[in-house]
Amino acid sequence: MWHTHPSISKYYLSLEDILSILKHSTNKKSIIFTEYGIWELEYREYIKFSPHHKLDEFTKDIQPILDRFYHKIKVHNNNISIVGKRIRYNHSETLQLAEDLNKSINKFISDYRLTPDNDEPRFSITWTPYPEFVV
Ligand SMILES: [Zn+2]
Repeated sequence: MWHTHPSISKYYLSLEDILSILKHSTNKKSIIFTEYGIWELEYREYIKFSPHHKLDEFTKDIQPILDRFYHKIKVHNNNISIVGKRIRYNHSETLQLAEDLNKSINKFISDYRLTPDNDEPRFSITWTPYPEFVV
């Protein structure tokens, strides 16, 4: 399953992008094309995330990471006087975002035993920028 984030929208992931792969047992891999590169999300486990019981906790963990990233990018834009609300690509911050999300989501999966005991976390987010944006 794939979709696009057109250039006027944010190039990073939304909470819903992340939830959609955890919620649906049939949608184990998701690819999102953006202006600067490609996000790949994969949940290699057959245990379905139950949003009714755990959505609040999950949101509490994950939303601040997305918000923090957005504010970092915004400040960066203000400093260099980018016109309008467009977000400028920041390579190191985006790699850091992927790492932070991977850590938090896998910790959540372990804490709430969405994977069998002693099994390693099975969620992965990969960010692959288009070559011209790699710095
Ligand atoms: Zn999306």
